[in-house]
Amino acid sequence: MLIRKAYRFRLKTNPVLEQKLFRHAGCCRWIWNQIWRMNQRRLDAKQPLIWYQEAAYWLTLWKQSEEYGFLRKVHSQPLQQVLKDLDRAYRDAFDKDQPLKRLPRKKRKHQHASFRYPQGVKLDNRRIYLPKIGWVGFFKSREVEGKVKNATVSWRAGHWYVSVQVEQELPESVHPSTLDVGIDLGVANFASLSNGITYDPISPYRKYQNQLARAQRALNRKVKFSENWKRQKRRIQRLHHKIACCRQDFLHKISTTISENQAVVFVEDLKVRNMSRSAAGTLDEPGRNVRAKAGLNRSILDQGWSEFVRQLDYKLQWKGGWLVKVPAHHTSQECAACGHTSPDNRPSQAVFHCRACGHKEHADINAAKNIRARGHRVLACGGNGIARLLKQEPVGNREGVPPVVSPEAAGIPPL
Ligand SMILES: [Zn+2]
Repeated sequence: MLIRKAYRFRLKTNPVLEQKLFRHAGCCRWIWNQIWRMNQRRLDAKQPLIWYQEAAYWLTLWKQSEEYGFLRKVHSQPLQQVLKDLDRAYRDAFDKDQPLKRLPRKKRKHQHASFRYPQGVKLDNRRIYLPKIGWVGFFKSREVEGKVKNATVSWRAGHWYVSVQVEQELPESVHPSTLDVGIDLGVANFASLSNGITYDPISPYRKYQNQLARAQRALNRKVKFSENWKRQKRRIQRLHHKIACCRQDFLHKISTTISENQAVVFVEDLKVRNMSRSAAGTLDEPGRNVRAKAGLNRSILDQGWSEFVRQLDYKLQWKGGWLVKVPAHHTSQECAACGHTSPDNRPSQAVFHCRACGHKEHADINAAKNIRARGHRVLACGGNGIARLLKQEPVGNREGVPPVVSPEAAGIPPL
């Protein structure tokens, strides 16, 4: 099995190097915004958009010009990559199969500065070769296995990082375990397993909330764009970065443990569930700013959930296991013992008590058992059911790369 894996390392930079990195990221942002602006005008005038071919032509013209000659100081491939990304973003936005995708937006300065080399990077123990920048040392936190394919260089909270994607041939393996489990993802418990294990949620955001608020107030007192203001701004970025790292670490630990112990994992199809949950008002603390917090809570938690499922999916595949998504209707109201389904079965958030047979259980574990039973039914009903599931969530589509759709098929008029 050929897999793709990414390793992220922090780069060892100095002011000269940082200047080069920022120049690359800046030019990439400039070219994105330039084409974006032209496209905005064309959209307003109801004219056909600029696609990759034309954008590449514009890029060559700009590079030759006196005015935009600064583009020549930057390697050509990251710039072309930007044009491809923008092209992709427009195609996705007009793709009827991806209704959630919106039109690409303008990139703001220093906001997630990054650029990507589709090829040409070389690794040499503790150094990486970035074309037109040179050899750069990095903090080698682990060994890189596999063949280097591409690299993304990005700036986060005051440091530069490189994410190296490698291709690796893994032997087809049989999962060492023969167990399977259903998982219910929720707010009160982050994950509840049908075998009775529950994982408490962590909220690094809540932990650092006061610190963040204090830092934000300090920022507001400072003169905008002064040196003090910039320093304070960096402090806030570091805090946000820390919160993100905590969450990521938490998700990785749980998904690794579960994928090691279970060969097959059943989860709900998340999208439907999210909406029904928040509508039913089963958030952590109902009544206290629910309405105001709901949006925030949901977006934060949702990210956690879908990222967790994504990690479980690829980790299981690497070990020879399998993730199966099951339909999510009423898993929290159905009795795992007798199948009686009613909202009355949930006297409270935490307790499940069946009105028909008297079965009493932790509500989330009851739901996890239902998910597991549904998963078994899906597997038992044979190839068709599985084929349909796989069609919804293609296995090869792990990195969220949408399938290639020609502009004609997406209803986009040709140039
Ligand atoms: Zn029952």
